[in-house]
Amino acid sequence: AIVHGILEVFTNYFALLDSSQRDQLTGLFNRYSLESNLDRLWSMLSANMHASDSESDLRINDPRTYWLCILDVDHFKKINQNFGHMIGDEVLIMVTRLLQSALRKSDLLYRYGGEEFVAIIAADDLAAAIEAFDRCRIRIEQFDFPQVGHVTISGGFSNADPSVLPQEIMNRTDSALYAAKDAGRNRIYHYATLVEEGVLQQVETGSIDLF
Ligand code: GH3
Ligand code: MG
Ligand code: MG
Repeated sequence: AIVHGILEVFTNYFALLDSSQRDQLTGLFNRYSLESNLDRLWSMLSANMHASDSESDLRINDPRTYWLCILDVDHFKKINQNFGHMIGDEVLIMVTRLLQSALRKSDLLYRYGGEEFVAIIAADDLAAAIEAFDRCRIRIEQFDFPQVGHVTISGGFSNADPSVLPQEIMNRTDSALYAAKDAGRNRIYHYATLVEEGVLQQVETGSIDLF
């Protein structure tokens, strides 16, 4: 909770100073903002992890784990093709509002790319993380979008392990997202579970960016 609080204060502070951290269409923090926050979050989590007992006053006593999920609108190109770019933009705005309503205030949501979002949440365990990200997916699935009708999203997520570089975590969530797309979309996949099941091989550091 403390890490998250600090991160939020930083995020809000820098966003006020620097509007280049905001996405114009949705008002969300953008990819640039995500990348600078990841470095900050990672150094806080690693400092916590490496703190010795004698430094326990510096230790952030937050047993919760952080989880990072990439969410991507399914067949968004078709929405643009069938209804036009303006309706496509409206879908993105509505998807943003639905994701915000499914997440908690303390969760962080970014527009990562065109129809791609990144959510960072704190959750006690895998089951709680699955529940939170699936709530996002269901919120979209159940909404009746004006003109367009039904829209779905797919996602890939991973534990934000501070001993792994943030770029590697992004690669992991990317590969889980691709597996979710492959399996038929409208589902959220967890990277480590896919590795355990043998669906995915461990992603190597420095592997190519899939986006
Ligand atoms: P998939 O289910 O595999 O994700 O298919 P997709 O069609 O969603 O994915 P793809 O990456 O092929 O297409 C994404 C499209 O999003 C292409 C691009 O023109 C569109 N797009 C990107 N940014 C915006 C935007 O700001 N507004 C609108 N309307 N469209 C955008
Ligand atoms: Mg995409
Ligand atoms: Mg897509």
